[in-house]
Amino acid sequence: MKNPSRRQFLKLVGVGGAALAAGAVGGSAVASEGLKINNDNVAMLYDATRCVGCKACMTTCKRVNLASGSLAYEKADFDADGLWDAPADLSGDTRTLIKLHKESPTKWSYVKHSCMHCQKPSCVSVCPVSAMTRDAQSGIVSYDKNICIGCRYCQIACAFNIPRFQWDKALPQIVKCDMCKSTELPRTGTTGCASVCPVDAIHFGKRGDLLLEAQRRLDAQPEKYVQYIYGAHELGGLNHLCLAGVTFEKLGLPIVGDQPPAEFSEKIQHTIYKGFIAPIALYGSLCYVAIRNMKQGADKPAADEKGDDA
Ligand code: SF4
Ligand code: SF4
Ligand code: SF4
Repeated sequence: MKNPSRRQFLKLVGVGGAALAAGAVGGSAVASEGLKINNDNVAMLYDATRCVGCKACMTTCKRVNLASGSLAYEKADFDADGLWDAPADLSGDTRTLIKLHKESPTKWSYVKHSCMHCQKPSCVSVCPVSAMTRDAQSGIVSYDKNICIGCRYCQIACAFNIPRFQWDKALPQIVKCDMCKSTELPRTGTTGCASVCPVDAIHFGKRGDLLLEAQRRLDAQPEKYVQYIYGAHELGGLNHLCLAGVTFEKLGLPIVGDQPPAEFSEKIQHTIYKGFIAPIALYGSLCYVAIRNMKQGADKPAADEKGDDA
């Protein structure tokens, strides 16, 4: 299964994708409430059993998104010449990271960490100014530095601990994978990390096709895989899918269940604020209490004066 060309990508995401490729993604889908899983979204399938840990995906991610993401190379302590980009974790300079999980000398696995592009993203749900948005057509969750007010609610809300903040920059941004939406995707029709992987461990394509491909691999080599596609249902569906040979929790992919917290919180918010009945009722109650207190305050000196006379 090959990664799609630019032409195929435009077909994948239709008219909305064409607008995306032209760099015209707007806040077309801010709230996530009420969405069904959309298998026409674009997605990535990472197969940890194929990954050889070369980190070509990491270096390419940084190279292609360096300028647009305001990223910097991260120097390691041992690297006197500054030749290496050696991030220890996702950070304000790093959108994706390959980690190694070692279980025993013979059992280990690499794992790629980056945004899961949730179909019902909490980061979008909690952002008070819609700096985080999810494109309804492509499903890409992206960030607009020009709208962000730096509250970092998105960081707290994300179940996967993905968004990072540029603490050390004069004009800080939130940093996370945006599926190369303004860099490699419009230019080549695929993501930077998927295009360079030498062992085909990362596939970019339509979510429905990737689910079929993942299931085909599970059926073809059952002894090689944990029989589960991580992301198929998690939190209402993720557009970053994962296959592995060791349990996902050990790889830092948490057990999160199928229910998206975004939908729950939005339901509560939307119920409370429906027609603005609750805020109006609250405002009315507060006014009543304030007026009553004012009246009591006005009556009190008169009563005190009576007492003084007596
Ligand atoms: S993984 Fe986190 S940052 Fe990415 S879309 Fe989901 S909630 Fe947002
Ligand atoms: S899709 Fe693009 S931004 Fe996301 S991890 Fe891959 S290279 Fe980086
Ligand atoms: S480029 Fe492919 S093989 Fe290399 S670390 Fe990334 S996912 Fe693994």
